[in-house]
Amino acid sequence: MSRMLPSSDQLFAYITDIGAREHPALRRCREETAKHPHSGMQIGPDQGAAMALLAQLISTSRYLEIGTFTGYSALAVALAMPDDGRVVCCDVSKEFTDIARRYWGEAGVAAKIELRLGPAVETLDRMIATGEAAFDFAFIDADKESYDAYYERALKLVRAGGLIALDNMLWSGKVADPSECDETTAALRALNRKIHDDDRVDMAMLALGDGVMLARKR
Ligand code: CA
Repeated sequence: MSRMLPSSDQLFAYITDIGAREHPALRRCREETAKHPHSGMQIGPDQGAAMALLAQLISTSRYLEIGTFTGYSALAVALAMPDDGRVVCCDVSKEFTDIARRYWGEAGVAAKIELRLGPAVETLDRMIATGEAAFDFAFIDADKESYDAYYERALKLVRAGGLIALDNMLWSGKVADPSECDETTAALRALNRKIHDDDRVDMAMLALGDGVMLARKR
């Protein structure tokens, strides 16, 4: 069977160039974030394009994001959504999401996006309690130790046939190495196994970026 390609700077540059039709605001957001000390938290253009395409394939009009950082993924999906589409972003950082807001405005999609600042578990529990309208697509990309809590809540908030995508599920390959047993690796490894065995969803692991687990709610 074919295997993941060995990565190289040359190949990465090629994927960045050819693998996505990147909106100018997305490019500027990516370039500004690249100078940031936490730049590794940003998804690549190829992943942004894949998420936008997935959003279109399932006719996403409501997108939920848990962990927004400087706004690249929310912008990529918002640009692929209809004018009346709605994005709800959960994050704890005003500093990072102020950068996000600037690019959402620049791209003309700020009106589609609502930012809810605060611990996401509380925000999600409030949405469940108040009967928030169902989402078509949820993306989980925040603190890894809480992923299971986010996944359980996303399962409640996404419609049947809707999609949950979880980022960094290969964790630089550490999940496959039994000698790696730090708390974060253990949490992601356990969640990968749980989703693999979870009959509430159909699933596939993509070797995209740092690993994206896709779970379609049955
Ligand atoms: Ca990530």
